[in-house]
This record gives sequence, structure tokens and C-alpha cells, in this order.
Amino acid sequence: MFDKLKNIIKLYKSIDLTQLEKISKKVDLGEVLGAVSKMDENQLKMAMKMLTSGKKKKDPPPINADFYDLSSKLSPADRELQLKIRTFLENEIKPIVNNYWLHDEFPFEVIPKLAELNICGYVYEGYGCAGGSSLMDGIIASEFGRIDPSIATFLGVQSGLAMGSIYLCGSEEQKNEWLPAMQQLKKIGAFGLTEPLVGSATAGGLTCTCKRNGDQWELNGQKKWIGNSTFSDMTVIWARDVDDQQVKGFIVRKENPGFAVEKIKGKMALRIVQNGLITLTNCIVPESDRLQHANSFKDTAKVLQMTRAGVAWMAVGCARGAYENALDYTLKREQFGKPIASFQLIQNHLVEMLSNLTSMQTLVFRLSELQDDDKLKDEHASLAKVFCTLRMRDIVSRAREVMGGNGILLEYNVARFLADAEAIYSYEGTKEINSLIVGRSITGYSAFV
Ligand code: FAD
Repeated sequence: MFDKLKNIIKLYKSIDLTQLEKISKKVDLGEVLGAVSKMDENQLKMAMKMLTSGKKKKDPPPINADFYDLSSKLSPADRELQLKIRTFLENEIKPIVNNYWLHDEFPFEVIPKLAELNICGYVYEGYGCAGGSSLMDGIIASEFGRIDPSIATFLGVQSGLAMGSIYLCGSEEQKNEWLPAMQQLKKIGAFGLTEPLVGSATAGGLTCTCKRNGDQWELNGQKKWIGNSTFSDMTVIWARDVDDQQVKGFIVRKENPGFAVEKIKGKMALRIVQNGLITLTNCIVPESDRLQHANSFKDTAKVLQMTRAGVAWMAVGCARGAYENALDYTLKREQFGKPIASFQLIQNHLVEMLSNLTSMQTLVFRLSELQDDDKLKDEHASLAKVFCTLRMRDIVSRAREVMGGNGILLEYNVARFLADAEAIYSYEGTKEINSLIVGRSITGYSAFV
């Protein structure tokens, strides 16, 4: 009797009303009903169990991109902040970024909401800043990168490059004037180092000049790629002093005479970031706006060392965002009647992504510990920038690959990471330049030229 029932149950799994007639030709439904009516309660329960088993799909495991549980190393307060930021980004930023990215525009309405998070200048002491750890600062950069590398870059410029220049190289008066307002995002900053003709070679080759006349300076030249500069209240401009040939830093206010910005259009990466081409024509800056402790490129390099570590973290976030979205897609997308996540070749991509991501996460974690112990060197930050951006590029490319055609559509939330990774790979020192910094450190030979 049970053998018969099993046969019927097999058929039952594919039953619908239109098929009933076909089935009735294969089995004697009267006989089945007769058998069922003679069953006791236990037999009925067992039959029902057999009928329902195999109907439910197994739930996939939750997506966990913190595979080695690094978050468990955070204090409860830091973990709480991490989750608060994640929730904010999921609710407020994720739903709007594809549209802004598509239209090459910046979502100004999010600035007050970002200010409420109280994360600008997170590591600095005083001036309204949190005085938090570099580790947590990195985690914040990664959380932003995970949802949108453009907004992460906006904050990186504001909090790291612009505020960092003032914090590390400014006088007390300059810090008091700018840092509290920038911490609350009431004033926006930018950082102008790169020039149209000089990118990697800024250390010795800046062509933008400054000349002192009494208690003011005259700046001339151009700066290219300057993030936030189309709307920033001030831009830190790095220029070579024609008298002593040293690089000096200036706080150039948007209303300074001789300061003009043109938006760079047609980018295929970080399209939300507003990058400008700045032209300085006999631009007058008072001595009181010269960064008082920036006396050579070595001081500029101190700012870059700090922010390069942040870029490595941002790369982790960008890779993580792409990985999570791709994994989710492979669990839902079916081909040949099965989720594509069940195919060996797809799993190979997923595992390659996760192993790269996990090694990036553990590397930046240690990087920030060095930073917090005041042991961070240029070569540490450069190695992290090289390694993480290279691995990020591999991860976003595999994420796009496992999604087939949908991988190039913005709405599937991987294409943006794929494109944005290209800018993160190049800015704040290319792979070659950061490799040369590490190479010089481990061999003793400088191979820049
Ligand atoms: P180049 O220096 O011209 O390099 C071209 C290629 O030559 C690269 O592959 C490079 O690695 C290689 N190369 C150069 N020298 C050597 C060498 N000695 N050995 C081997 N290879 C070498 N700058 C700012 O100042 N402020 C900003 O806010 C800012 N934001 C940016 C945002 C975006 C989206 C982008 C794309 C750039 C931004 N930059 C900014 C500029 C960025 O830092 C530079 O693009 C970067 O430093 C590389 O300079 P470059 O583009 O001029 O390339």
C-alpha cells in the first residue's frame, strides 16, 4: 500500500488541476482514496509529511562578508556606530545613488544628514571632532564604500584631505576657524595637488607657483581632478614658492580673486563626485591663509600617508558591496532549473572574491592598528593601497561576471562598483607609484626615475 502511495506522492508533486485527468489514467484514484480512508492517525501524519517534504525550498545561509568575524574585535560602542552608519546608508543613500550617478550630480540634500552622524574628522582631537581610533575611521570609510564609493570619496576629501591638511599643517587660528565648521559640514573643503601636466610626479614637479608680496601671496597655475571643488567653500592649494622652491599650502576661499573652477564632465567612474579643473590667475591669498606648518612637500606627504590608509579601507568597502550584491544575485538567479550559485564554476568565482576580500579586510585592520599605535609608515599605507585596490579590481570584475548581462545594468548594483573601482585604483597614487614607495623601502633603491 505504501509503495503505491509513494508513487502517487511522486506524481502529486507535479500535480495541478489540468493534469488531474492525465494522472487518473496512470493511477486508480478510487483505490488511493480507499487506502487513505483506512489509514490510522499516525499513517495519515506520515503521508502528509511525505506529501509536503521537498515542496519547500531550503533557505540559503545569510550573506556574511565579514567571514573572519573582524567586527567582533570592535568595542560595543564602535560596533553600535558601525551598525548605525550601515542602517543610515542602507536607508538614506542606497536608494538614491544610482540616479545621481547616472546624472552626474551630487545629492546636496544628504549633507545635513551626514553631519548628524558626527563622523567628519573622526580621528582628530578637539575642534568638535570625535577623537576616535583610526581603526573605526577605516571601518566608517569601508561602510560608505560598501554602499557608494562616490559619497565615501566626498567624505574622504572633506574629512581626510582638506580637514587633515589644516589639522596637520594649520595654525591654531586656522584650525579654530575651519575645523569645527567642517566637522559639521557647514563648510566644505577640497584638496588641490594634482595638475593637468603633473600627477604622479607632484613631489618634485609642481608647476603651480606662489610668490610672496608683503603680507599676501600670488598664486598662478592649474589644478586638475579636484574633488568637491565646484562647490567647496575653500580649497587647499599646494604650490611651489618661486623664491625658495619649496612646496607650500594655502587655504584658498572660493571668493578669492583669481580663483576659477570648471566642472570636469564625462567621467565613467565616481560620477557623483564633482571634480573640478581649477585655474589660478594672479590669485591673491593673505599670509594668514597660508598653512603655517606646511614648509615642504614632506608636510603634504604626511596628509597623503593618512588618507592613503583610508583609501585602502574604501577599496575594501567597494569590493564588499560588489561581492554581497553578486552573491545575492547568484542565489536568486536560476538557469538550467537551478540557482546559478549551485554551479561549481560560479562558486569558484564567489570563493575567489571572498578570499581576496577577507585578506584585504585583515590587512587594513592591522594597518589601522599600526596607525593607532603611531607606527604607520609611508610604505605601510602604500602597500595597503596597492594590494587592496588591485584585489578590489579583481573582485568587482568577477562580481560583474557572475551576473551575466545584468552585471552591466546600474539597477543590479554591481556596475557602479565596477566603474568606481577604476578611479579608486588611480587616485591618491597609482599602483606604480605606491609600488615604487614600497620598493624603495624594501631595497633601499629609489626607482621613480
Ligand atoms: P600620470 O601621473 O600621468 O600617470 C600615468 C601612468 O604612468 C600611470 O599608470 C602611472 O602609474 C604611470 N607612471 C607615472 N610615473 C611613473 C613611474 N615613475 N614609473 C612607472 N610608472 C609611472 N588629485 C587631487 O589633488 N585632489 C583630488 O581631489 C583628486 N581627486 C581625484 C578624483 C578622481 C576621480 C581622479 C581620477 C583623480 C583625482 N585626483 C585628485 C588625481 C589623482 O591623484 C591622479 O590622477 C593620480 O595621482 C595619477 O596622476 P595622473 O592621472 O596625472 O597620471
